[in-house]
Amino acid sequence: YIVCTDVRKAFGSHEVLKGVSTQFRTGEVTVIIGASGSGKSTLLRAINRLEPHDSGSITIDGVAVGDDAATLQRQRSEVGMVFQQFNLFGHLTVLDNLTLAPRRVRRTPRSQAREQAMALLARVGMQDHAHKYPWQLSGGQQQRVAIARALAMAPKVILFDEPTSALDPEMVQEVLDVMRELAHGGMTMIVVTHEMGFAREVADRVMFFDQGCIAHDAPPAEFFANPGSERIRAFIRRMS
Ligand code: ATP
Ligand code: MG
Repeated sequence: YIVCTDVRKAFGSHEVLKGVSTQFRTGEVTVIIGASGSGKSTLLRAINRLEPHDSGSITIDGVAVGDDAATLQRQRSEVGMVFQQFNLFGHLTVLDNLTLAPRRVRRTPRSQAREQAMALLARVGMQDHAHKYPWQLSGGQQQRVAIARALAMAPKVILFDEPTSALDPEMVQEVLDVMRELAHGGMTMIVVTHEMGFAREVADRVMFFDQGCIAHDAPPAEFFANPGSERIRAFIRRMS
């Protein structure tokens, strides 16, 4: 349960988040859309403290993000992140990409970490590639591994920042299918994406960001039937 209250962030004199207040409930899938530069990535990065916000508060299950180093480390392991660029460790095999954090952060024994990793790879259809290196995989395969790696820490929520934007078109669906499965399994997800089909079919809520503010926030059926403004309607039309 993530609560954002009047979250503000500026880079120099440029206000990127202008008082964002919202809640992300457990088990809910939120899709965030909006123009380039509207602050979508900055909000995700504030939630997992890659980019500290200036004022307002963000709490995860009632605890403010990053109050101290120990809290921050625990919260980082509770919040998974999947980026546009897959960000796998290039010098590690797929299996080692998945076991690294559980072994280092959770002190999970090697054999147990491997067993869990293989189960997660099976879940994303990558069990046959466990001993390959990232460069031996397609973009879609790398992104599925990145999702499995996020799952390896058993996070409470996974943040996705345009997970399919860097993929060749024929690989987009395999990644969206994995995300859809996760959503059906009850994972709490915040997804920045331009995939309107995913938003319509999978999201519980669609949120439109405009210049650092949430301009519209509604369940998908309502959101797409009544986008709230001509500006949002035009955006949806461009993306569909
Ligand atoms: P996109 O759809 O292009 O990914 P976005 O909605 O994710 O856009 P952000 O990445 O959150 O937008 O960026 C919002 C604004 O903040 C942009 O104008 C960007 O240039 C600026 N910005 C983001 N990170 C930094 C930074 N580290 N230093 C300075 N400016 C930044
Ligand atoms: Mg972004």
